[in-house]
Amino acid sequence: MRTLTARVAEVGGLQIRRALPQRSLRTVGPWCFADHMGPELITPTQGLDVGPHPHIGLHTATWLFDGAVVHTDSLGSDQLIRPGELNLMTAGHGIVHAEQADRVRSQTLHGVQLWLAQPETTRDGTPGFAHHADLPTVASGTADATVFLGSWGGASSSANIEHPAVGVDIAHRKGVSTWSLEPTFEYAVYCAGGSATINRSPVTEGQLLQWEPETAELTIRTDDTARLILLGGSPWEEPLFMWWNFVARSKSEVAQAINDWSAWSAVGESPRFASLRSSLAAIPAPALP
Ligand code: MN
Repeated sequence: MRTLTARVAEVGGLQIRRALPQRSLRTVGPWCFADHMGPELITPTQGLDVGPHPHIGLHTATWLFDGAVVHTDSLGSDQLIRPGELNLMTAGHGIVHAEQADRVRSQTLHGVQLWLAQPETTRDGTPGFAHHADLPTVASGTADATVFLGSWGGASSSANIEHPAVGVDIAHRKGVSTWSLEPTFEYAVYCAGGSATINRSPVTEGQLLQWEPETAELTIRTDDTARLILLGGSPWEEPLFMWWNFVARSKSEVAQAINDWSAWSAVGESPRFASLRSSLAAIPAPALP
């Protein structure tokens, strides 16, 4: 097992911790991006205010521990997300969305936004959006795990993607829990709060613990409460070229997406990216190096 530390970055005015990608760990299964937002106080001038921006070739999975965020997108979705619910957006060939903390409903924000790369078969396909409000929970020892994507501990989420993957939020109390693993999957656990010992390796808030496939079982011990996000899936075999909000296969594909987004920014729509009305300003793409 090895421990990696998330680095600080900024998204939509909010300081976040980015656990994936890392130089030495690009993907965990299809999971290719992991941002930990908060816990942060939301004020009239500070919060999550991410104006219209495009995505291609990925799913975004937004999962809150605390707070309220409104998602709007170019498919016409307008969805409030609360803790315990999952927003799963599929970019495919192209989608535009905006995300904003709902300051009336909550003055705090805490959660994760995760990206999953789409495989060759769907990455240039139709965009989509789904909200999953009813997700299963499984218990082991002193832990309760909510399965927000895929299957875990005998329970299956209503959210699934084409590439085999799992995403679980483990709320741990002082004590021990034991979980069996899918031997063909690779896994990592991000510690979003507290600290834990997982198969004898310590992990604390802001750290990602990663291990090789073929580990059969996971034993988690904590001395207090802890919040752990487990990500896993079949190893990702396809090439990836990630830049800004685009998950592609090559630099030229990203250059094309930047051009298509510039065309959108000029008039508010383009053949690739449909229109999205928002009170927030659209975000320009940074130039490719
Ligand atoms: Mn986004």
